[in-house]
Amino acid sequence: MTNFKGAATALAAFALMAMPFGAAVAQDYPNRPVTMVVPFAAGGPTDTVARLIAESMSRTLGQQVVVENVGGAGGTRGAGQVAKAAPDGYTVLLHHIGQATAATLYRKLPYNVLTDFEEVGLVTDVPMTVIGKSTLEPKDASELIAYVKKNKDAVIYGNAGVGSASHLCGMLFMSALDTQMTTVPYQGTGPAMNDLVGGQIDLLCDQTTNTTGQIKAGKVKAYGVTTKAPVKSLPNLPTLDSAGLPGFEVAVWHGLYAPKGTPKAEIDKLNAALVAALQDPKVISRFADLGTEPVALDRATPEVHQKYLEAEVAKWKPVIEKAGVFAD
Ligand code: ASP
Repeated sequence: MTNFKGAATALAAFALMAMPFGAAVAQDYPNRPVTMVVPFAAGGPTDTVARLIAESMSRTLGQQVVVENVGGAGGTRGAGQVAKAAPDGYTVLLHHIGQATAATLYRKLPYNVLTDFEEVGLVTDVPMTVIGKSTLEPKDASELIAYVKKNKDAVIYGNAGVGSASHLCGMLFMSALDTQMTTVPYQGTGPAMNDLVGGQIDLLCDQTTNTTGQIKAGKVKAYGVTTKAPVKSLPNLPTLDSAGLPGFEVAVWHGLYAPKGTPKAEIDKLNAALVAALQDPKVISRFADLGTEPVALDRATPEVHQKYLEAEVAKWKPVIEKAGVFAD
């Protein structure tokens, strides 16, 4: 009897040792908190999306998903930190379109956008809005266009650094008007918004997840949305495409990433928690208030996310090269 018990224990131990490493780890994954890096300052739009998703994912995973803000260098500092983190499922990155544009914008990016990450799934597409400080003269988009053309670099445009969505939007705006404004980089558009409300800067183009509240509270002037379709939660705001800048279009997609080499079993668990978050009524309703919605679930997969990232790198490369904006 004792012998049999001993043999069974030895057999079980052997089976555990023989199990592929990933499978043994994945069984109790996660058994401690997961860090979700947001590559921008707290209080901004990427942070808002991340915190909503993280809260819901925590419930599914049975462990806290803790948001860590690592702002700087237009999102590339935080992304670089995750690219070099241990591929064990305990560090993930919630990033936006900047993951694709940085590949061309930066001459010396210390990581490879396409090969240093495992994609977990797409999260949401968020329209942007061009907004000004409440005392800015122009009353609507066509007046704003004339004002910026006339005042050029006397107009102060805030952004979240080269590689951020606000940088991309500003770059497209200046190139459409064929003029330059003075740009001021922040660690994220949360702090940039504070300065816009305070009147220290003139203009900002930022996601509705950051601007809707301020627009509705009348703390900033809203000039237009950057998508071809109007935004339901801001029904009176025209599209820039229809208000003097035909063809103007940029929407900010977000995706969840893990470092390259994170085992598939962990990616699958993270993906299942993401998919659950995208169906969470609280997330859906908060997203709707902020002018967005979760992606269709068939886009919240590693495969679709990976192909989308590749397509977005290819899409923005010629646009950025034409604009001639690069960073080291
Ligand atoms: N979404 C902002 C941008 O890329 C940054 C932020 O989330 O704070 O401009």
